[in-house]
Amino acid sequence: MKTEAALLVELNAPLQLVEIGIPALKSGQVLVEISHSGVCHTQILEARGRRGPDPFVPHCLGHEGVGRVLETGEGVSKVRVGDQVILGWIKGVGADVPGTVYDWQGRKVNAGGVTTFQRHAVVSENRLVSLPDGVDPHAAVLLGCAAPTGFGAVLNTAEARTGQSFAVVGIGGVGLCAIVAAVAEGCAPVIAIDRNPERLKFAAAAGASHMLNPADGDLAKLIKALVPGGLDAVIEATGSVAVMESALEWVRPRGGRVVVVGNAPADATFRVDPRQLNQGKRLLGCWGGDSLPDRDMARYAELLKAGVIQSGLLKAKAYPLHEINQALDDLEQGKVGRPIIDMGLRLTKA
Ligand SMILES: [Zn+2]
Repeated sequence: MKTEAALLVELNAPLQLVEIGIPALKSGQVLVEISHSGVCHTQILEARGRRGPDPFVPHCLGHEGVGRVLETGEGVSKVRVGDQVILGWIKGVGADVPGTVYDWQGRKVNAGGVTTFQRHAVVSENRLVSLPDGVDPHAAVLLGCAAPTGFGAVLNTAEARTGQSFAVVGIGGVGLCAIVAAVAEGCAPVIAIDRNPERLKFAAAAGASHMLNPADGDLAKLIKALVPGGLDAVIEATGSVAVMESALEWVRPRGGRVVVVGNAPADATFRVDPRQLNQGKRLLGCWGGDSLPDRDMARYAELLKAGVIQSGLLKAKAYPLHEINQALDDLEQGKVGRPIIDMGLRLTKA
């Protein structure tokens, strides 16, 4: 069987849309027909070579999607043929099968345990979760990466509680999901920070109480005016080391948390004033919002369904697969919050 895929063949060059041959499934693998794929900044970093040298090219890309199961390999018990599934990079229950090698006119094409910039993909069982009932497949794409990362950074990593003050820096897909979770948890104030006024509008629609643009003045002062004692938590979703350095100053002594979610370029480092840590502030990393997909997905689906996200990012733009390079460019230039690649496959509710 063959399928159409957008491949990274050369760093810093457009992805190439080609036909690739799909190998027979190994034990623990699942063949999925993809209906929608998200595009996130990770793919921009990869495609533009900002993660450093890439020994795997040519390779498939993309790590959040929705589709339906066409075939299951030996030993797969988590999903069945015909199931509608979320594809995501965060490992859950099930077999953990390393990447697939596809065929491109005799040339090997690498792929990780999940890839989504293609019409059909061989996916490791542990990168799939059944699509919860009642979630629009278009919106459900976010449950593969942006939603578990953004929701989880707030709920799991920062351990948000009612009444706590939060700031979210960088209102892309992840940042917007972080706002939704903080609002749903009853945090207040919930401050959205971004340079792009359009994105701040999305944040307002998602329930953020205050919108700050760094162009309007010194962020430390603006935040202090709103929360004189310092924030309970900051979710950093820009990948900017300057933001990571500043955020520790914005949170309160004795328990203020900074959660670094954004991906910085490969050679970036940042400086920490150890006295900030001596005050009991905590600098935290997170891996997909410390989400356990099989445990968290039902709750995440409810948060997603709360509808606020649809009012913002998801109306932004859908692209057909052959416009994948436009989608990457538009995301990089901030023209769209979360591009969705629509493969044209319509899932019918079971
Ligand atoms: Zn992602």
